[in-house]
Amino acid sequence: MDESFWENGLNFECTRCSRCCTGEPGYVFLAVGDLRRLMTALDLDFRALISRYCRFVDMGEHHALSLRERSDHSCVFWGSSGCSVYDARPIQCSTYPFWSSILASPATWTEEAEYCPGIKNGKRHGGSEIAEALASRRAAGTIRVDKATALTPPELLDETAILGR
Ligand code: SF4
Ligand code: SF4
Repeated sequence: MDESFWENGLNFECTRCSRCCTGEPGYVFLAVGDLRRLMTALDLDFRALISRYCRFVDMGEHHALSLRERSDHSCVFWGSSGCSVYDARPIQCSTYPFWSSILASPATWTEEAEYCPGIKNGKRHGGSEIAEALASRRAAGTIRVDKATALTPPELLDETAILGR
């Protein structure tokens, strides 16, 4: 990753265009902390949260847990007022666009700006804030399971095997 182009900060301010929450197929991969936060915010237990709002995605060597999306590809939490779980949204969402893939080089940052109108505009985010976003996403990780677990009905999933104790 070429840190030199972002260590002095980058401009980004969300215009609330909704593009990253709607419109195109995609994944919002989830970390253990995301599940715990959403369970609290929605007052749901583990199995109800998985059953209503999550899906396992076959990634080849493992299956990763993601939010569901609707048939029009909008996120299951997208509503007329925007993100219905904004304060508890997954870390993948809260750290966008400061992802390692997007910060890989000036070219990848510019490429993402074609997609997101907030990039290269508005508020200045310092290098330490960007580094913190990268580190927190890395530390959070994503929930990965084997195929047998991914195919297990939500009501039979082992909560402690996925969330830990
Ligand atoms: S694509 Fe960018 S500007 Fe649009 S909602 Fe997502 S983060 Fe905000
Ligand atoms: S959880 Fe919220 S911010 Fe994240 S994709 Fe869904 S609607 Fe958008």
